[in-house]
Amino acid sequence: MDAFSRLRRICRGNVAMLLVGALGAISVCASEIPAARAKVKAADLIVRWQPTVPVNGSPILFRVTSPQRLTSLSGKWLGHEVFFSSNSHGKVWYGFAGASLETRPGNYPLELNVETGSNKEISFQKRITIGKGHYHSIAASVPKQYTEPNPQQLQKIGEDKTLKEHAFAHVTPEQEWAGSFRAPVKAQISDVFGTSRTFNGKVQSVHQGLDYAVPEGTSVAAVNAGTVLLARPLFFEGNCVVLDHGQGLLTLYMHLSKIDVTEGDHVATGQTVGVSGGTGRATGPHLHVAVRWQGVYLNPATLLSLELP
Ligand SMILES: [Zn+2]
Repeated sequence: MDAFSRLRRICRGNVAMLLVGALGAISVCASEIPAARAKVKAADLIVRWQPTVPVNGSPILFRVTSPQRLTSLSGKWLGHEVFFSSNSHGKVWYGFAGASLETRPGNYPLELNVETGSNKEISFQKRITIGKGHYHSIAASVPKQYTEPNPQQLQKIGEDKTLKEHAFAHVTPEQEWAGSFRAPVKAQISDVFGTSRTFNGKVQSVHQGLDYAVPEGTSVAAVNAGTVLLARPLFFEGNCVVLDHGQGLLTLYMHLSKIDVTEGDHVATGQTVGVSGGTGRATGPHLHVAVRWQGVYLNPATLLSLELP
């Protein structure tokens, strides 16, 4: 039986789904195989991901393994490019992605394009199930300027918006993160990601990060290696540091009383980026950490729970 008949048989049968360990895994069905005699067969490629059952708001780490060396691997997921990098001679590839809070539960395609050298290309698609996350609602109170800013404050908010749009548009394809992400402080969590909040009974927003109950003056550590993209005071965020970890993944540290890094600095995992505080729109001193992947806020708690190479 030739490779393509074998592949078709795998696709037709319902044996494509395998669960391996704690990771979701599935054999691949090629939707398009343009070149015969390709050395790497789509059926040989295994795609796994963490977390096993991603929900709306989850970061997702894709892992693609191939018995033969691949010269490149690229992906498309929910309208964004997924940047893969390999740290084991082109046989194991990792790429970060995510599903926004607005993503409805369902099956979504991960489109992959593989190059095997000598211009051999394989394109295939996999469908991945996104479940429904469970998030709640609270009321909070903050100083009036944060719900009814004056003209001068509105101008600062506008300037910050331009600055943030510029920083957040930044996508570094290369991987800068290395190994698992680590908590920025050792403290209790005071509010989780995805909570709907009503400020002063008026302004509604969804909590796009994770809050740690730390008093002012606690050192805040980089959750992984990266480059400092932004390090300055902003109206809502207060003193804010944004790190770029590559592959489109950013982490944000807000309400700091002091910033200890400069834009353009390279930081290692665990390095101090600043000191906690209560600057900006904060109900009191705490650390707000946020995770962004290509314009989408993701659940930091999920990112911290991933076991990464
Ligand atoms: Zn927060």
